[in-house]
Amino acid sequence: MIDFDFHTHRLDTPPGKGIVCLPQHIVREAADTWLPAPGGCYAAGIHPWWTADADFHLAAYMDALARLLQHPEVVQVGECGIDRLQGAGVELQYAVFQAQVELSEAFARPMTLHCVRAFDLILHARKSMRPVQVWTVHGFRGHATLARQLLDAGIDLSFGERYDEEAWRITPEGRRHRETDAE
Ligand SMILES: [Zn+2]
Repeated sequence: MIDFDFHTHRLDTPPGKGIVCLPQHIVREAADTWLPAPGGCYAAGIHPWWTADADFHLAAYMDALARLLQHPEVVQVGECGIDRLQGAGVELQYAVFQAQVELSEAFARPMTLHCVRAFDLILHARKSMRPVQVWTVHGFRGHATLARQLLDAGIDLSFGERYDEEAWRITPEGRRHRETDAE
């Protein structure tokens, strides 16, 4: 049992028990009307897979995210990031990610990252954009060497059901989280 679920998609998560990543239909169509549960914690972002939609439109999403971030209950930008196996081409994904880094800085919200085979790009973005907000890679399954590299770059880690014991062990307690990533 996890005390606090750092990353879940379940909207029925009891307030105080986790951070709920808002589904695409809320971000796309209900940014003006959606209301957080009292005491709830949420993340709002553009999932890298959404970049492959035929009607993907960055400006519309950025507008919606800016509106959602007016709620103090929306405590993170995410999940966002880069996925080399799914979604649009990596150049578009990188641009969409950069836009969300800027949003995260402007609204002073940390970011939760979805990263598949793109840690080089995430590290590059962290170095070149010099954000002050914390970034956390969710569902981290990498080995200790990669964990060390990310930690040294100022990126925290969230661990799901399966993870590398050594990577978990070397991650300082204040910088590691547990998650279900439940749908
Ligand atoms: Zn997720």
